[in-house]
Amino acid sequence: MSQVIIVGGGNAALCAALSARDNGACKVIVLERAPRDEAGGNSRFTAGAIRVAYSGVDDLTALMPDLTAEELDNTDFGTYTEDQFFDDMGRVTDYRCDPDLVELLVRRSHETLMWMREKGVRFVPIWGRQAFKVDGRFRFWGGLTVEAWGGGPGLVDALTAGALKAGVEIRYGARATALIHGEDGVTGVRVKQDGRLSDLSADAVLLASGGFEANPAWRARYLGPGWDLAKVRGTRFNTGDGIKMALDIGAAPRGHWSGCHSVGWDRNAPEFGDLAVGDGFQKHSYPFGIMINAEGRRFVDEGADFRNYTYAKYGGVILSQPGQFAWQIFDAKVAHLLRDEYRIRQVTKVTADSLEDLLARLDGVDAERARDTIATYNDAVATDVPFDPNVKDGRNTPGLEIPKSNWANRIDEPPFEAYAVTCGVTFTFGGLRIDTSGNVLDTDLAPIPGLYAAGELVGGLFYMNYPGGTGLTSGAVFGRLSGASAARFAAKQAGDGRAAE
Ligand SMILES: Cc1cc2nc3c(=O)[nH]c(=O)nc-3n(C[C@H](O)[C@H](O)[C@H](O)COP(=O)(O)OP(=O)(O)OC[C@H]3O[C@@H](n4cnc5c(N)ncnc54)[C@H](O)[C@@H]3O)c2cc1C
Repeated sequence: MSQVIIVGGGNAALCAALSARDNGACKVIVLERAPRDEAGGNSRFTAGAIRVAYSGVDDLTALMPDLTAEELDNTDFGTYTEDQFFDDMGRVTDYRCDPDLVELLVRRSHETLMWMREKGVRFVPIWGRQAFKVDGRFRFWGGLTVEAWGGGPGLVDALTAGALKAGVEIRYGARATALIHGEDGVTGVRVKQDGRLSDLSADAVLLASGGFEANPAWRARYLGPGWDLAKVRGTRFNTGDGIKMALDIGAAPRGHWSGCHSVGWDRNAPEFGDLAVGDGFQKHSYPFGIMINAEGRRFVDEGADFRNYTYAKYGGVILSQPGQFAWQIFDAKVAHLLRDEYRIRQVTKVTADSLEDLLARLDGVDAERARDTIATYNDAVATDVPFDPNVKDGRNTPGLEIPKSNWANRIDEPPFEAYAVTCGVTFTFGGLRIDTSGNVLDTDLAPIPGLYAAGELVGGLFYMNYPGGTGLTSGAVFGRLSGASAARFAAKQAGDGRAAE
């Protein structure tokens, strides 16, 4: 009777659990550190956007058979081919990403989402966030087209229901604290539940317990000074436990340990994510405005690329500004383009009918310098180039020291709006080294028998930056893959006839 233990309760863990059952594991136990009402990790905090390769509309209708003829008619989905996905991974990570892992991520993205559908997850197009209407038709941009129905909560609920239906046991409030390890590899975990420690044996253990973003000491230690001051966008439970447990038994670290995904996040957001607000504290419409810091200066090219290719690194840029904050400024011309998150109740916002009034009310900002900055910026806008939010329109600001490469508009039409942001850390990039079966490797690069990993705590995929929507794809693809490998290994260990063939 093979037994697989999965550590974690997010997308990667639940996909791994389902896959382990599919691949013959007799008993699968999910240990989720969070209590039931906070379960689901960062996955629950997401909007459910998931990057998937598709070579045409047929691939999308296979995933979303409920699309009506009218919806198909009204929308230009374009394509997001495997080649485009490869290019994006290479480009945004400065070509440091592990080619073997990326090969799996990209090539298995579509089949994995089809498999998730079988398990009860529903997908829909991201009309609201990733498409603008041009000449009466929605046109998608940025390679991100699909989201889980019901967002992150919908995704986690569907996977949880699927896992329970498949006979997976989920223990909430169960924190794995150490791996049980001997000459034969990993044979179980030590668990703390209801204040008591106990040992749980297993034929294979799969770690899917997230990164170390919610651990301020590790953030300062690995990401660098100042990162302890960032806010955490998601779960408070991802403190690096799984990574530490594996390193403690000799696992190899991998990837960009001083790097993370971080975004502009409401300056007054709480220390950790709030499930009632989800990702609403993020402020992602900066490509249509400008950002200024405490000194009243612009500090980054807000229009360097589509939002989903820059947002994950701009949190760190904001963190490095004086006082770790910035204000995003927009005028009436672009107010209709601002995402829903700008209209939530818990927002740090200032509005005014004149720029002068607006700047005077921006907490902590040198208003005089900000006025000069905006005047210089306005003068530089290439107004002869047409504005088009759907493409990189090249409407830029010739001559500025810090350019705005696309979507530049003069800020001159009242009312004016400004939003205060700081850095919100999403997840860390550094993690464990796995092979292409999901087996964790030791520092001699030999597989550690019985130990597998998936999701955020796998290193080697993301460096410097990240293409939006890839975290869930990675959790799903590697959860499914590693879960299958863990089940097969466990079956051999336990001598199960069925899977030992
Ligand atoms: C606000 C926000 C929005 C995001 N939006 C998107 C998006 O739209 N699309 C996208 O692709 N990505 C998005 N991401 C990133 C995405 O959430 C992650 O990449 C992905 O969910 C990671 O999945 P995971 O299963 O590896 O980790 P998680 O979902 O974080 O799961 C980790 C689990 O491990 C548990 N755990 C931790 N320590 C232990 C322990 N010692 N014992 C037992 N359990 C433990 C945690 O409680 C948690 O359940 C977003 C993240 C945030 C915070």
